[in-house]
Amino acid sequence: MASIIDGNKIAKGIREEIGAQALKLKQEKGIVPGLAVILVGDDPASQIYVGRKERACEEAGFLSRHFGLPSQTQEKDLLRLVDEMNRDPAIHGILVQLPLPGHIRTEAVIEAVDPRKDVDGFHPYNMGRLLEGNPLHRACTPLGVMELLDRSGIPIEGKEAVIVGRSNIVGKPLALMLLLRHATITVCHTRTRDLGGVTGRADILVAAAGKAEMIRGDMVKEGAVVVDVGVNRLPDGRLVGDVAFSEVEPKASHITPVPGGVGPMTIAMLLRNTLNAFRLQTGA
Ligand code: NDP
Repeated sequence: MASIIDGNKIAKGIREEIGAQALKLKQEKGIVPGLAVILVGDDPASQIYVGRKERACEEAGFLSRHFGLPSQTQEKDLLRLVDEMNRDPAIHGILVQLPLPGHIRTEAVIEAVDPRKDVDGFHPYNMGRLLEGNPLHRACTPLGVMELLDRSGIPIEGKEAVIVGRSNIVGKPLALMLLLRHATITVCHTRTRDLGGVTGRADILVAAAGKAEMIRGDMVKEGAVVVDVGVNRLPDGRLVGDVAFSEVEPKASHITPVPGGVGPMTIAMLLRNTLNAFRLQTGA
């Protein structure tokens, strides 16, 4: 029987720690971290994510400024808003919710954000700093995975870590973060041959493919730590991860549930990045 890693509980603890630090800053220096959240269009999932992020910000005592733009917004108008936020001293973090409508170049928008305010950690400057081994802002979801491992007392150094998924927002930055902590890394994707053979070697297995329950019991080594980043909605409405929980849980030493595992950590890490960005910009 695996020990279940409770992401809700760990994230709540982190949010409280951050809230206490923000309160202290407010009392002692009269300033608070500020986050600008920009949403283009009316994608229902994005609206839910953005709403959660804004609520978490407010609960932590941060300033949260919301910009809801219509889906037909022109790229140049979005870039102008990003530039305004770059120059606004009350704003320390800028989040542009992805995906953006097809007529807007995502890279152009990501690159327009001042890297010091890039609390999503997606700017090539921040990706480059991570690649170099000297990170500034790191992407929230992989950072949340690292924090879950650390706060669960799971050693990383020297371990065989296998990640399924190589996206820029999860798989790739997570590989770099684990490498920095001296794990041996394998990154799998759709062209990987004998996926089960590779995942079966993992001491730490992270599933971030976005394929419902694709990691079956026979793909996991006895005693492995299994982290499930995937969020998939089944036709019957149920939310499941990339891991077949009931098959894998009896073999794993630790496992994250979906929901209530990695998801809540992403928001906690956004708050932490915003607090760090604030300290960096104000010297507070
Ligand atoms: P992407 O679709 O951008 O990337 C998926 C990756 O998984 C790709 O590299 C793809 O390979 C690989 N992959 C897909 N299917 C398979 C397969 N059958 N075998 C091996 N590899 C496969 O997804 P994201 O990284 O954006 O997200 C991954 C999952 O994590 C999603 O379920 C998403 O909802 C969830 N997520 C959760 C977050 C949270 O806060 N909890 C935050 C962000 C994402 P290839 O490159 O070859 O196409």
